Amino acid sequence: MRAIERVLPITRNQRIRVLQYLLDSVLACGGPLLVTGVILVFHLHPLIPNITILYLLVVLGLAIMRGRYAAILSAVVAFFSLDYLIVPPLYNLFVYRIEEEIELFTFLIVAMLTGQLAAAMSEREKQAKRQAEQEAQAQAGELSAIFEAMTEGVSVCDARGEIRYTNTAYRSLLALEEDFDPSLLQLDTRLEWLAIRDLEGRLLSKEQYPLLRVLRGERLSGAHSMDVMCCNYKGENIIFSVSGAPIRDATGQVIGGVVVFRDVTRQRHIAEQLQYSEQKLRSLVESNIFGVVVVDIDGRFYEANDRFVQMIGYSKEELLSGAITWQQLNLPEYQEVTAQAVGAVLSTGAMHPYEKEHLHKDGSRAPILIAGAMIDQERELVLMVILDISERKEIERRKQEFLSMVSHELRTPLTSIMGLIELALMQIELHSRSLPPEAEGLLKQIEKTLKRADGQVEVETRLVEELLEVSRLELHKFELVLQRENLVTIVQETVANQQQAARARQIELVLPPEELVPMLADACRIGQVLTNYLTNALKYAPVDQPVSVCLKVEASSARVSVCDQGPGLTEEQQQRVWERFYQVAAPGQRGPDRGLGLGLAIARAIVEQHQGQVGVQSAPGHGSTFWFTLPIEVSPKECPTDRN
Ligand code: ADP
Repeated sequence: MRAIERVLPITRNQRIRVLQYLLDSVLACGGPLLVTGVILVFHLHPLIPNITILYLLVVLGLAIMRGRYAAILSAVVAFFSLDYLIVPPLYNLFVYRIEEEIELFTFLIVAMLTGQLAAAMSEREKQAKRQAEQEAQAQAGELSAIFEAMTEGVSVCDARGEIRYTNTAYRSLLALEEDFDPSLLQLDTRLEWLAIRDLEGRLLSKEQYPLLRVLRGERLSGAHSMDVMCCNYKGENIIFSVSGAPIRDATGQVIGGVVVFRDVTRQRHIAEQLQYSEQKLRSLVESNIFGVVVVDIDGRFYEANDRFVQMIGYSKEELLSGAITWQQLNLPEYQEVTAQAVGAVLSTGAMHPYEKEHLHKDGSRAPILIAGAMIDQERELVLMVILDISERKEIERRKQEFLSMVSHELRTPLTSIMGLIELALMQIELHSRSLPPEAEGLLKQIEKTLKRADGQVEVETRLVEELLEVSRLELHKFELVLQRENLVTIVQETVANQQQAARARQIELVLPPEELVPMLADACRIGQVLTNYLTNALKYAPVDQPVSVCLKVEASSARVSVCDQGPGLTEEQQQRVWERFYQVAAPGQRGPDRGLGLGLAIARAIVEQHQGQVGVQSAPGHGSTFWFTLPIEVSPKECPTDRN
């Protein structure tokens, strides 16, 4: 069926061609014969010498209008009709004179050449026209393909603003159905539902409409493109970036316009959000509550707020010109911690808060707290927030000084009170037997009271001692006397002492097969740590439950743990028990066992100064295991003192 359909037009073409040949032949024969008739009727030959030129005109006309075939045929017909009907002897193809024969043949050749030439020229012209038409068609096709491929909406309008063409994107941006009513796009109707507004939502006046501006000859491109808000056919708001240009004819007259619509709603919203967050950050930076800087990984400043400038004494110009770098504000002793922070920001993108001191322009040191985050991976830019903590540090220092002073002042009278109580007890012991029985009874009572007072003084002394320790720690006056020691001995001695003090309690000791666990340590301080763990375990575990102490050797370190069946600790409590003054249960606990929540903080400081670690494993209701590790001394040079 399709094949037949294809063949049909070819047959039709052939028929048309035959008809054309027939018409050409009729015109080619009729034209010259008509001219011959005119010549004969009006006896123009030989009245007018060059009357044959009339035939040439016919040939020329046919060549231009009907082509080569008609031109040549008409030349031949003209030749014969001239010879047969006009040049004597008439009705005969012979001529009397040779000149007449030459003249006739010259006429034939000229006629044929003229026809040929004219036909060739006319054909060339037609071909050029056809080619121009094809090119124009191809260009129109290309243009329409480009418009269809565009994601921007395109509309082409005539000089009155009526739409002549829209691409698919235009229709989909405006939510028009495929079979929409074309009257919707009539200028007035469309401007009505589009409700074109500026970005603040104010309706535009007609002169401001992008299309009408274009039709007035304006070019809307680059900086002159317009951002407007419109409604699509569903009534949803869309923000368009509109550009356009007028279409002019050869005389420069505007005959229409092309307008291109780009949907920038999303970009606008993102830009607005960015602007909002930028504004939030800006106001925070400009509030100058804390110092804010942006530096690259080489320490070059890109931004610094007034608060930071105030903190370090250098001007903004000095910082931003590159004359001063972040590294120059660093003190040598903080190089390691700074390098760690840089490493963290490079690998994780964030720098957790850490304290350090930096160098002020006047050479003084200023304590600061820093935190930061990478804000530009490519340029490796880091935003840092810096808090001036000099006031806090000063308060802390004064507090510690005060604590240390108070503890000292309390310790001296406490020592004398203890001495005096002991003296009084000794005197009672000495004289009790030489006194009458009623005085002896009184003395016994005084002795009891004195012993109770002694117990209280002991508690007070321990508390004061802990306070002193903490202030020493804070003021970095906590010094260790490191010697080669055997950890086995320290553990054994401490456990024995505790067992002595709490005879009723059961303390199990598990030692490693090694008799010697050598290390560089301050034996007293390590003993103090274990004592603290043990007293806590005895204090918090039920009296009928044993407490076990275990010493283990693990690769390059030794681990001491104290395990009890006490109340146990929650996750949060396990973290917090190492803080100063933190107490889980009854903070107001009174009695000989009462503490200040300082023991574990001191223990941790001691262990960490020995390059060890502390920790606890526990669960509420399942007891606790407090542990510490210490590095084993590997040097085989000297044997530690065995104090047994
Ligand atoms: P304190 O002098 O108050 O005992 P510590 O620093 O030694 O101070 O301990 C801090 C807190 O940790 C204690 O108040 C106690 O609540 C809790 N704690 C310590 N050891 C244990 C333990 N073995 N079992 C349960 N809680 C404990």
